[in-house]
Amino acid sequence: KKLVMINQRIKKGEMVHACLRLISGKEMHWYQVHLLKTGSIIIGMLMNIDVERQEQERLKERASLDPMTGFYNKVITKRLIDEWLMSADRQHIHALMLLDIDNFKALNDELGHYFGDEVLIGFTEQIRRLFRSSDILGRIGGDEFVIFMKDVSEFKIRERASQICEFSYRDIRISVSIGVAYAFKDGDNFETLYVKADKAMYEVKRSGKNGYTIC
Ligand code: GH3
Ligand code: MG
Repeated sequence: KKLVMINQRIKKGEMVHACLRLISGKEMHWYQVHLLKTGSIIIGMLMNIDVERQEQERLKERASLDPMTGFYNKVITKRLIDEWLMSADRQHIHALMLLDIDNFKALNDELGHYFGDEVLIGFTEQIRRLFRSSDILGRIGGDEFVIFMKDVSEFKIRERASQICEFSYRDIRISVSIGVAYAFKDGDNFETLYVKADKAMYEVKRSGKNGYTIC
């Protein structure tokens, strides 16, 4: 489509500027192209912009991450989950896990905000090790996290939730409340799954915290 459009504009005598991705074998390169028709000749300039594109990608990636934990920020977490659900296999189990650290305000008050930050970083580092790189890990609030597990068993969900509930940092036990909702059974987008998981998590908070509930 892009080439057809470029062709039409060149024929009209317009100067055309475009970014094109050229694939040759397994290699892919980005070029900036400037083209102009003079008489029966087309004069063009092709500039390799691989370095600039890589930098743009790196900046885009960085902007989508929470700087403290390296988890996705809320906007990107929601978008990634929604996009993935649109083409997900409805026969398999996919789960949204919502986590909120218990009594985190008190921990900040007793041990300092700086130590609180350390706990958040330690917590997310441990979580990252528990999940697959294909799962979606997001920080959606101060001490609130979402983990979206793709194609998973109920046994694994329970196992992971129990492991998270055993978290400790520098010998201090950190209690966590977790709610889990299943994709397609409880909702088919981030918003509905979040509401269900939040209700399940609230049940845990209400009944003494430190545990998990599956919808
Ligand atoms: P609950 O057991 O009901 O979850 O209560 P809570 O004390 O954990 O408080 P809540 O989840 O309602 O609020 C989260 C608190 O986490 C609020 C704020 O004091 C703290 N917090 C939020 N973001 C940060 C952060 O980036 N660093 C630190 N150290 N603390 C944060
Ligand atoms: Mg909390």
